[in-house]
Amino acid sequence: MRVLALAPLTLLVWVLVAEAGVVEAHGQRERRDFRALSDDQVNAIAALDPPEWDSVDSGHLAKLLVPRVSGTDGNVAVQKYISSVFTKLGWHEDKYATRMETPQGELPFTNLVYTFDPDAPRKIVLSAHFDSKWFEQGDFIGATDSAAPCATLMDVAEALTPLLQARKARMDAGTPILTAHLDEVEAAETTLQLVFFDGEEAFHEWTDTDSVYGSRYLAELWEDTYLPDHHALARRRMSPTPNVLDTIDVLVLLDLLGAPNPKIQSYYRETDWLFEEMRSADRRLRAAGLVDTTDAQWFREFRGWAGMIDDDHRPFLHRGVPVLHVIPNPFPHVWHNFKDDASALDLPTLRRWNRIMRVFTAGYLGLATDDGASADQVTRDEL
Ligand SMILES: [Zn+2]
Repeated sequence: MRVLALAPLTLLVWVLVAEAGVVEAHGQRERRDFRALSDDQVNAIAALDPPEWDSVDSGHLAKLLVPRVSGTDGNVAVQKYISSVFTKLGWHEDKYATRMETPQGELPFTNLVYTFDPDAPRKIVLSAHFDSKWFEQGDFIGATDSAAPCATLMDVAEALTPLLQARKARMDAGTPILTAHLDEVEAAETTLQLVFFDGEEAFHEWTDTDSVYGSRYLAELWEDTYLPDHHALARRRMSPTPNVLDTIDVLVLLDLLGAPNPKIQSYYRETDWLFEEMRSADRRLRAAGLVDTTDAQWFREFRGWAGMIDDDHRPFLHRGVPVLHVIPNPFPHVWHNFKDDASALDLPTLRRWNRIMRVFTAGYLGLATDDGASADQVTRDEL
């Protein structure tokens, strides 16, 4: 990705265009209530760590920390591994494959999309890119870019699948719980979707056309895919002909994570409130002593940085989809450097990201470990 530090006038035009796009394309996205997780629930969600995960190159990362340039065998092997994880979890899989022209000729790109409930009218999308950058000089691993974020997405799915299943069973049985903080019927119509983008990296110099191949294809396809008869969705979005993009409450994009001491900020006013929820998840985990706090402050207060970081969210942002971009600024010092391998990753940092993302996502979806089962009952062992 590339940092775009825009001149003030350009920025103003950019902001106006972006915000106009949001209003025209989708009406006003609503904020929603987060489930107020109790301390016990935060504890229980933090405790859902995979038991065998004691080094940065074990677990999912062991399979992801390989060269995986789009169009290569390594890329296909990683696709197969990601697919196997979600097949085991029982999630719905969609593969969006295409061929696109690059500076190195026409190449194949395959986005992998996993949805807990494919019939749900709304979703929160968590995303990252699984391809690695091509370098003429040799094999590049891209541990922070973006193997570690992909591993975090898989961790969130594994940890929250039993909670999603427990709620679905309860809703199917007709026993929603209405709390003071949450309309659970509304929360339950929102599902979790994970998107693994292919072809984020530029082959030569980063330009609008030599970058984000997979996400450009997917955003355009979803914009042109209309949904029949989604009355609840049409009413909510004030759109008589909703398309797939209208079902996305927010696209959360993780990138360049896994190195110690990231500095994260909010890039879009529309999702400032979600950034605050993520910051709050981290604050609660730190207060409870559930994450390493050597680098206490990851999430920045200030809102003053004028610019954006170009990345896989661009084609969605331009089509009015709200975006929460979770990327450190500045980038890790190993960025696009051959040192971005397992040695760049920090286990306490990875654990903290996993726990933050679990608590954040559970809050968004109104999930908790006491949904129809005790925290003891809801463990990874059930998978
Ligand atoms: Zn990169």
